[in-house]
Amino acid sequence: MPELPEVETIVRGLEAAVVGRRILAVQVLLPKMALAPVGVQFAPALVGERIVGSRRRGKYAVLLLASGRRLVTSLRMTGRLIVGDEGDAPYPATHVSLRLEGGLRLSFADVRTFGRMRLVEPTEAWDAALGLEPLSRDFTPERFTAMLSGRTTPVKVFLLDQRRLVGIGNIYACEALWGARIRPSRPGKALTSPAIRRLRDAVVDVLARAIELRGTSIDDYVDADGLAGGFQNRLSVYGRAGEPCSRCERPIVRTVIAQRGTWWCRTCQR
Ligand SMILES: [Zn+2]
Repeated sequence: MPELPEVETIVRGLEAAVVGRRILAVQVLLPKMALAPVGVQFAPALVGERIVGSRRRGKYAVLLLASGRRLVTSLRMTGRLIVGDEGDAPYPATHVSLRLEGGLRLSFADVRTFGRMRLVEPTEAWDAALGLEPLSRDFTPERFTAMLSGRTTPVKVFLLDQRRLVGIGNIYACEALWGARIRPSRPGKALTSPAIRRLRDAVVDVLARAIELRGTSIDDYVDADGLAGGFQNRLSVYGRAGEPCSRCERPIVRTVIAQRGTWWCRTCQR
């Protein structure tokens, strides 16, 4: 499932490939994947629009359009945004296809069809329910302390809650907690000030390092050029049950917290 570093990588790829181009034709092959505001038809509304920017918000890829509308894509489990040549064979499991100026095609493909591409009006606060960006200046230890105050949920569950912090999924939550030496089941309110600071730094560090390596390809994430990321080779705990912890050499364990597999080290995460 693409998390912040993977979506950031995709968005940067789109910035390079499609920003500045006009949309010439739109094909929707599976209507539930392409949503539009009431009274607006997805495909006709997009034809003639120019793509003027490419941004990420949480785990969403956002294409800014010249009209002020935005095309917001949620990739969910297996969604992909792939740029290719117009003449190439259609990308497998493509549900929405945008033909662009310059002989390019932007395909929204999704084997499991949980993802969505949504056209959003300029005034619509589509992201109002989303929380703080962990790579923004606002993610300070003070702010994080206030967010965790009084929280009885396990800190790992808190990290996954997109209403609090955005972009962190199972992989980077496990990795950040290992980096900060914090037991994933600890209630948020039980973290000391130094632990909160370590966790804040670990979140920022793991996300930044993963972006540098163009994301983690464990299931089937690929970037806008169809290439895999490189961070799967740098994971410290995620998916590594039974392997030695690189800090203390004790075996990494897998437990379940809130129905999600959780990888961590019983010895050095307290
Ligand atoms: Zn350890």
